[in-house]
This record gives sequence, C-alpha cells and structure tokens, in this order.
Amino acid sequence: MRYVSTRGHAPALAFDQALLAGLARDGGLYMPAAWPRLTAPEWKALAGRPYAEVAVRIMQPYVGRALREDDLAAMIADAYRGFTHPAVAPLKQIGANDWLLELFHGPTLAFKDYALQLVGRLFDHVLKARGQRVTIIGATSGDTGSAAIEACRDRAAIDIFILHPKGRVSEVQRRQMTTVRSPNVYNIAVDGTFDDCQDLVKAMFNDAAFRGELNLSAVNSINWARIAAQIVYYATAALALGAPARRVAFAVPTGNFGNVLAGYAASRMGLPVAGLVVGSNRNDILARLLASGEMRRQAVEPSLSPSMDIQISSNFERLLFELFGRDGARTAKTLDGFRQRGAFKLTAAQHKRLGRDFVGARANDEETVATIARIHRRTGELVDPHTAVGLNAAALRRGDPRVPMIALACAHPAKFPDAVERATGIRPALPPALADLLTRPERLTALPNDLAAVEDFVRGRVRVAA
Ligand SMILES: *Cc1c(COP(=O)(O)O)cnc(C)c1O
Repeated sequence: MRYVSTRGHAPALAFDQALLAGLARDGGLYMPAAWPRLTAPEWKALAGRPYAEVAVRIMQPYVGRALREDDLAAMIADAYRGFTHPAVAPLKQIGANDWLLELFHGPTLAFKDYALQLVGRLFDHVLKARGQRVTIIGATSGDTGSAAIEACRDRAAIDIFILHPKGRVSEVQRRQMTTVRSPNVYNIAVDGTFDDCQDLVKAMFNDAAFRGELNLSAVNSINWARIAAQIVYYATAALALGAPARRVAFAVPTGNFGNVLAGYAASRMGLPVAGLVVGSNRNDILARLLASGEMRRQAVEPSLSPSMDIQISSNFERLLFELFGRDGARTAKTLDGFRQRGAFKLTAAQHKRLGRDFVGARANDEETVATIARIHRRTGELVDPHTAVGLNAAALRRGDPRVPMIALACAHPAKFPDAVERATGIRPALPPALADLLTRPERLTALPNDLAAVEDFVRGRVRVAA
C-alpha cells in the first residue's frame, strides 16, 4: 500500500514512512492510494473473532509489505493485552435498538488509547529497525497528553516531553500524566495557557537546528496509523450486530474528525454503514457545514466536552480530498482559501454526496447535561459529556428504527466527574486500576513560558541525540 498526500505534491510513501512522517512535506495528510475492500464472506468470517485478530485482518492491507505480518500481529496482541475488558471494545444495549460502544477500557480511559497503544509500538519497532530514535514533543489541555505518554512510556527508541499549562488541567488529567514513572517520560508544567504551550511546541518544530538535532516527532491525530487502528472497533461492533447482512449506524462525538473518519474508512472497506452521525458541542462548525454546505470558522468557546473544543478539524481535509475526487491541487486551493477567508462553500453536488454518509447535530452545555441525566434515568448508565454529545445527536438524527444505532462512548465518566455529578447527583468513581491515582507521587518540572528554557530542558534529557 502506498500513501498519497491530500495536497497532491509530496511523494507517495510506504506505511512505515508515512507513519514516521506524520504530516506530508506539502502540508497535506497521507491517505491510502486505494481503499482495501473485504468481501461479504470475508467480513462474515471475522464475526465473533477476538478483537486482536480482527485488528490484524483490517490493518494488514494498510501496512502492506512495510512490516512482517507476524510482527504486526505481535504488536497488536501486546497493545490490547492490558485493556481491562476481555472484549476490548464491548457493546452495551441501552434501548430497543440502541447501543453504547465502550471505548474507555484502555490505560487512560478514553478512546485515544485504542489507536495510540498500537501506534507507540509501531513507532518503536520501525525506529529500531532503522537504528533511529525520536523525541516526541506535544502540548495538551488534558486528554491527549496522557494517552500519548502511556503509548510511548518505556519504549527504547522514544523520549517523550509533554507540556501542559500549569494549574489549568484537571487534577485527574494532570495525575494521569505526572504519576507515570517511566524514565523516558517528562512532564513540563508551563507558566502560561494551553495556547502558550502550543506556541512553544510549534516554535521547537520551527527551530530547524533543534528539530534536526533531536529528531522531533509527534503522534498527533493526523497520523494515518491512528485512523487505521480506529477502524477496528467500528468493524467489531457492526459484526456483533449482524453485519455484513445488516446495516448499522454510528453516532460519534467529534472534534478533530479522526474518530468519525475511521467510520467512513470502515464503510469504504465494505462494511454496511447506514450513516455516521457527527455530534458537535457549541463549537459546531461541522454541524453547520453538514446542514448548509458552508464551512465557516468561528472563535473557539470552552465547553463541558473540552476534547471537542476545536474549530478547525484537521482530519476533515481527508474527507474533502475524497469529496473532490482525490484532486490534491483542488484540496490545497480550497484549504488555502479557507485559511485566508475563514470560509468556503461546497457545490450542491458535493454537499449532497457528503450527506449520503454524514449527518450532524450540536448540543450546548445544557443539552449535554440533560442528555447525561436522561440516559441515567432511562438506563442507569453514567456517560461522560463527550459521549452525551454523541447520544444527543443520535437521538435527534435517528433514522430507520430497524437499523441499530451505535453511540461511541469515548471517555469513562470518571474523567469528567463534575459534569456527571451536576447531571445526576452521582460522582462516578475511577476504575480499580486507577483508584489510588490521587495518592501516587507526581513527577513534573515547572518551567517559565520561555522557548530557550524549554529547549535547554529537553536537550539535557534526551538519551541520545540523533
Ligand atoms: C479526542 C476526543 C474526542 C474527539 O475525537 P476526534 O477524533 O478529535 O474527533 C471526543 N471525545 C473524547 C473523550 C476525546 O478524547
């Protein structure tokens, strides 16, 4: 399998090269040159098989000859072994034909573990084979940092540095990062805001000498391997409910469009996906686009579902590339225009085509809290605010009642206890593996909002410069 850039100018790469590159050199995102398809009998043969086995079958065509299949299978088995539910991504029935797909049984209790646990291992494997090392640098306002740290901890070829705004992430989120004791993990508490942290990370990537010296890299959500790994739970859920003989729909709380894009990929691979419902919080650029065909940027507002407080969904570029018939030049031109003017409009035909796969709905904070309360009242389940945004969209955009509606539960309710308590009066408890989180010793370094200070810290700690 070769990977092509959504902007049409960067050279096509193999899986391992696209994995390490992340962003393409022309600023685009990598996409598989063609969608691998499974036939109905091939899907059927996967029904009821263990999660890791389905993962190998789905990932293998994306990996192609870049890795040996037994190496891939070993990494997949290792990645999901530590998940706390034997089904890895279990389904729970919450209505006549409504289901929750629980994606919070990984080490940091959010769906990002499902991709990152594998991607950390893939990075380490490919780097070792090449005799290379990387320094992963990232900024976090909460969730992404801990998932990246858990994915990279104790990996021989990786050192990871995560910046967070001092005193501005929740205690659970901070402790999920700072109580990791692996020697290749560094938490930096910056005296500033999340934007300051992001600016520092960008400045380090733009410092060519520093970037080269430390072989900087990122494991952010534009990495194709993350999307590919996320296709797996769409498949296991659909197969469990009768696919390929029966169609299923998914509702997905959406920020960067990475998760729901994996649902689109599952459909392109031949799974009978009846529809993908995009749930937005008050930052509703995608819900507005799906309704009107126009993408128009607004200011980002904080909400109860902070992992979706995003206006520019970076992975939407991949869908745009598909809508434009994989015309990279056109994708690049449209996105340049969007950057300059803050808006662009799809043609009526493109808008119609988008509507064949996707519908959207938004929920403000009150609707989110009301959904948490309603689900608890009707089913006894506690859901986190991100999941509630998806469930709200599922209820508003429910189509044919015979088609199962699968809402993705993207975080454990105990990660967002304040919103859950506000809605239900119940403060959800952390699962047993994290029960002592609040008493574990922390390791972090406080630094000023100063590029030289952060670069000196990083330079002084990487194990071997590249
Ligand atoms: C990251 C995240 C999202 C958004 O997912 P995208 O792939 O960015 O659309 C939603 N919910 C939770 C809990 C998350 O951590």
